[in-house]
Amino acid sequence: TLDLDTSTDGVLTADTHLIQSFADLHALKQDGARTVIVGADGTMVRDSEGNDLIDGIGGLWCVNVGHRRKEIIDAITDQLNQLDFYSTFYNFTHPTAAALSEKIASLAPGRLNKVHFGNSGSVANDSAVRMLHHYNNRLGRPNKKKVLSRIGAYHGSTHLAIAMTTPAYSKGWDSADDLVHHLRSPHYWRNGEGMSEEEFLDALIEDLRSSIETIGAENICAFIAEPIMGAGGIIVAPEGYHARMAAVCADNEIKYISDEVVTAFGRLGHYFASKDVFDVTPDIITTAKGLTSGYQPMSATIISDEIHEVISEPGEKFLHGMTYSGHPAASAAALANIALLESEQIPERVRTTGKIFENALRGLSDMEIVGEVRGSHFMMGIEFVKDKATKKEFEEHEAIGLKVAQACQARGLIARPLGNILILSPTLILSEEQIHQIAEILRESIADVA
Ligand code: PLP
Repeated sequence: TLDLDTSTDGVLTADTHLIQSFADLHALKQDGARTVIVGADGTMVRDSEGNDLIDGIGGLWCVNVGHRRKEIIDAITDQLNQLDFYSTFYNFTHPTAAALSEKIASLAPGRLNKVHFGNSGSVANDSAVRMLHHYNNRLGRPNKKKVLSRIGAYHGSTHLAIAMTTPAYSKGWDSADDLVHHLRSPHYWRNGEGMSEEEFLDALIEDLRSSIETIGAENICAFIAEPIMGAGGIIVAPEGYHARMAAVCADNEIKYISDEVVTAFGRLGHYFASKDVFDVTPDIITTAKGLTSGYQPMSATIISDEIHEVISEPGEKFLHGMTYSGHPAASAAALANIALLESEQIPERVRTTGKIFENALRGLSDMEIVGEVRGSHFMMGIEFVKDKATKKEFEEHEAIGLKVAQACQARGLIARPLGNILILSPTLILSEEQIHQIAEILRESIADVA
């Protein structure tokens, strides 16, 4: 049992004024069934009915160091006592944001040394593209503005970020997609029918090359990619994909934006996965979530010296920023979070525990309705199929992911359903015992529903 005072007296359990995100508003209106989380500690959360649940999704892929870490809470409080708020607009700055930018630059790969802060992953990605547009204006290339993204990508839900996201996420909504071209999904298991993995990779590279040829390199500013696609269903591209894509981009003066909103700060066993896992040094890395472990909303757009050099030459000002860019409390949270990652060697430990987690989940592959278990370390997905041999999908109305997630929750585990897929992205501090407990709950819950 969690050592928490979570008396729910006075807590609304069916909030009718709050618009929940990515929710079925009609269904919520009909039955009002919500999971109300009232407290959290370490790897666990408590709901309003007093159930203690393993947080299998780390809040929302973000609570990397675990819940209720005193070091971070104290750092935020101390910062607020010293300086509650000042902006980083114009010539104003403050020591905590400056110190954080220095720390991030020291952790980011080679030439990525300049950091602009935002409040969310969506904003970090918008910022990256805005900066590249300005960069190309500076270089006298006003047409070099389009972005290459991918089917299956998730880059956020502001107007630009949702346009770069896979179209499935804006069904019934509009998106400014005239700026974006979606390349093929790199999901071999689903899309590589009749090809070896090498042939599939060649086809993906060819798709990039022919898209560049059709659109014209002079019209494309960037290629944006998550090292492993997250909210698109945990898609790991074939080995060597990122390095080959990056090489083609570099040949065409197309900047490589690595969206490390999920993959940074330990989830895959490293501070940044681009270089250490996928052997790519991007021109821009965007990150959020694990940067503060979710204790404060914050994102970072980390750009190369070369891009910074161009946009800081004499000319137009840097007309971009949010009031809360580099917020003192968020900066303090991030610094304390990184200090914990370092002192407890969490990324290093994830290389072992994350592999144990990955292997424990891969063990579910023998189950009848499990089509593919995929991902890496603490970023995993399980895709359910109606027929294992043909990979036939469950219909949307069968809501298989949701049913498994509900069965998991009844057994004490929060997992995230996404159509026919179940996503696990827990805190990075799970014990081995908890890892096996999760695998056991998953096996029982899948068997329940199958
Ligand atoms: N990029 C990736 C890879 C994400 O997974 C997310 C959110 O899940 C975002 C961007 C958007 O971040 P935010 O929700 O903080 O705007």
